[in-house]
Amino acid sequence: MNNLTAKFMKFIESKGSKQYFFGGIAVAVLILIACTFSMSTSYSVVIDGKDMGQISSTVALNQAMNAAKEKAQQETGMEITASYNKVEAKATHGFFSSKMNNEELNTLIGENVEWLAPGAMLNINNGEIQLALASEEDAQKVLDKLKENATADLGDAIVKSVDFLEEVTIETGNVKASEISSPEKVLEKIAEGKEAVQTHKVVEGESFWTIAHNNDLSVSELQNLNPNIVPERLQIGQEISLTRLEPLVSVVVTKEVTVEEAIAHATEYKDNASLLKGESKVITKGSDGKKKVTYEVKEANGTAIEKTVLNEVVISEPITEVVSKGTAAIKISSRAANGSGVLSWPKSGKITSPYGTRSRGFHSGIDISAKTGDPVYAAAGGKVVLAGWYYAYGNCIVVDHGNGMKTRYAHLSAYNCKVGDTVARGQQIGRAGNTGRSTGPHLHFEVIINGSTKNPVNYLK
Ligand SMILES: [Zn+2]
Repeated sequence: MNNLTAKFMKFIESKGSKQYFFGGIAVAVLILIACTFSMSTSYSVVIDGKDMGQISSTVALNQAMNAAKEKAQQETGMEITASYNKVEAKATHGFFSSKMNNEELNTLIGENVEWLAPGAMLNINNGEIQLALASEEDAQKVLDKLKENATADLGDAIVKSVDFLEEVTIETGNVKASEISSPEKVLEKIAEGKEAVQTHKVVEGESFWTIAHNNDLSVSELQNLNPNIVPERLQIGQEISLTRLEPLVSVVVTKEVTVEEAIAHATEYKDNASLLKGESKVITKGSDGKKKVTYEVKEANGTAIEKTVLNEVVISEPITEVVSKGTAAIKISSRAANGSGVLSWPKSGKITSPYGTRSRGFHSGIDISAKTGDPVYAAAGGKVVLAGWYYAYGNCIVVDHGNGMKTRYAHLSAYNCKVGDTVARGQQIGRAGNTGRSTGPHLHFEVIINGSTKNPVNYLK
């Protein structure tokens, strides 16, 4: 430009005229602009179609890309083939735009460009989940290990097939170098799994238990998924979380197992008129039989999803238990004291307070002397209809003997039966004590006929 300006000045001098002077200035300004324009020719760094900034030469970009590729190669130990992102330099005509220096350019490339290396992709469910590995062998190693783990502890079972529930494929080709993991890491990722997000809205008639049962969860598993929900206070419309962790790949093992199983024995009852109603006697002791059953079991991640019986061999037949069952009605008859009544004594001991009117009101039973813990026996066979705290009686048992006859045992310290139990005459049902309105340990014993208490003495043997 200095030459040009000199020539121009010479031209003006040679003309010796000042009339060209101002025109000359204008030309000079134009040339100056032209020169500035040519100097500011720059390039946009375009990554995946997005303008990321200006540089002055394409050489700088090539150098930055080569350096970044080299770095990626060293860091991953992999043969980098290309960049994952499309990186271009596009000529622009910006005036006085600020340009990146080499350091800034390197940072830009480092932060925005990923690199590809030859490897293999493990595709689960048509690529819904993709896991990158360094090679096809590594990917195969993952699949082999999954199958190996699933069949490791099967004992005597015969493995018939091992498959994946999901569609699993290996695809070789360029993969992102930064995403390549070792087979061990990929196995970890598969085990860590995904959260299968699922919720349930409580509808009428449901309980925590039925929801757990309907979703193949135990109550404690469901409780763990819903730590803030009180099972007893479930409300209609309440949202229950059924979200649980599932591995990325489910291994389905079909195996044949042979197990020994019990064959439950039946019980046959025979009426016996010489035994009282509610009483029974075992004539032939029953026992369970044994069989060998071969199942074909299909398991997904260790949980049985199908079970079919292939074969069954009986090793020993069960023996039916034969029980003699009393049919004789308990005769309700009032006998004289020390007579041969239908009831046996609930415990031995002295009568410390008789039935009937006494100073503090009517005594509805007899008190039999006892120490706390003395066994108390059923006065006849029957069904336990109460075994619990009952007001002034304290811990109390009532046995229904049928035909309108019941016996009550009060102030107990312990129970050896529960409501619904069938008890036999002389069977221990509890222990004497001092609970309820009682002044010292004793057994209060009542006989109730059609709802009214009677003097027990008249019914005792
Ligand atoms: Zn009493």
